[in-house]
Amino acid sequence: MSSVSPQRVAVLGSSFAGMTAALEVRKHLDERHEVVVLDPRDHFTFIPSLIWMPFGARKADDITFPLAPLYDKKGIEFVNEAAARVDVDGHTVSTSTGRSIDYDKLLVATGPRLAFEKIPGLGPEGGFTQSVCNLEHAERAQEAWDRFLENPGPVVVGTAQGGSCFGASYEFLFNVHHRIRKAGLEKVAPVTFISSEPFLGHFGLGGVGDSAKRVEGFLERLGIEGIPNSSIKEVRDGEIELDGGRVLPFAFSMIVPPFAGVDAIRESEGLANPVGFVPIDDRFRHPDQPDIYAAGVATAIAPPESTEVPAGVPKTGQMSETMAKVAAQNIAADLTGGKHRDLPIAELSAICVLDAGNNGIIFKADNVLSHGIYANGEEPSARVMAGPQAHWAKLAFERYFLSSRKRGMTAF
Ligand SMILES: Cc1cc2nc3c(=O)[nH]c(=O)nc-3n(C[C@H](O)[C@H](O)[C@H](O)COP(=O)(O)OP(=O)(O)OC[C@H]3O[C@@H](n4cnc5c(N)ncnc54)[C@H](O)[C@@H]3O)c2cc1C
Repeated sequence: MSSVSPQRVAVLGSSFAGMTAALEVRKHLDERHEVVVLDPRDHFTFIPSLIWMPFGARKADDITFPLAPLYDKKGIEFVNEAAARVDVDGHTVSTSTGRSIDYDKLLVATGPRLAFEKIPGLGPEGGFTQSVCNLEHAERAQEAWDRFLENPGPVVVGTAQGGSCFGASYEFLFNVHHRIRKAGLEKVAPVTFISSEPFLGHFGLGGVGDSAKRVEGFLERLGIEGIPNSSIKEVRDGEIELDGGRVLPFAFSMIVPPFAGVDAIRESEGLANPVGFVPIDDRFRHPDQPDIYAAGVATAIAPPESTEVPAGVPKTGQMSETMAKVAAQNIAADLTGGKHRDLPIAELSAICVLDAGNNGIIFKADNVLSHGIYANGEEPSARVMAGPQAHWAKLAFERYFLSSRKRGMTAF
């Protein structure tokens, strides 16, 4: 047995990044060390399948599972509460019910805050557009879609300025179009796509291989007007006004909102940048707080290039899990003297499946944040495949991920 004294690792958030990190840390450390996870949600949700919920193709039970039994089995303490504040000097997390949890190492994986309030009229909570960014929003979007089917009209899908989940809005766009065609509503329900990307297929990454050509071709074939570089001024009941004055009427609209870090992290002194994201180094450790790590959407990652309209960097589920694994290895190495691992952000790779209802596009790219070029002048490899296999790949991955993750497996 190691001579290291027992330590406690606290993980804030239990989705793609947090759950992966907790399971990996648990694997690396012997049972004398404690791992505790906090999350106000008591279920894991496979967020990529939320794009199908509005059309009734998935119910909550199909794509969620309870967290407590998994953590119980794995010897991880689960606190079903939100972190309210982190005292970085005191090494303490206070929770929403006033509990105080001490930690030796902390990993922040609290994902995004959906900042609807930045655009008047945006979002399902008091606004006029829908969202598929969480389970509750996707359920509400289903009610809105049912109303749309009774009273169809133009559709607007997109990502607002400051949003970063471009893949999700493209997938939703293609699925909406697929459903409209199946319902025979093409003539009454023209579809428009708005995006803060400087060009379609940019994805907040400067493009992936020939993604611009592929995405433009897809939209053209489907008869969808795409408006890149768009910034939303205001949403009113049934219409979106863009900066510049163009007004887009809609009977149904789903817009991915601007992303920020969650309030508890933003408001914790010495932890986050002004937007609430946690700065990280190549070990996914806070540059000024050696006992604090972060992974997933909670991390501060600068865009690879500046764009006319603010476009965030996508931190996909797969990228989030990679970050979590590296952070977990480094936490274990800090505590037990094992080997550390460095993974510069620019060297993250990404696999992205854009489902289109019955076909789709698969992107696989190395070094997605390397400004499109390696230091040695070579272009990073990128592969793009379009066709029905993309749809089947997404379905198979959903089943595989949910069944393996329920058992606590972190490999995919
Ligand atoms: C519609 C949609 C489709 C997508 N499709 C894909 C896809 O096909 N492939 C892919 O790779 N990625 C996809 N993504 C992106 C993927 O879902 C995200 O990258 C991933 O969810 C990020 O994981 P995360 O753990 O960082 O954050 P999240 O999944 O957002 O999880 C954050 C967790 O932190 C918890 N939390 C929040 N505040 C606190 C607090 N104060 N204290 C404790 N816990 C807190 C939340 O309850 C939540 O459980 C999609 C995203 C969307 C919206």
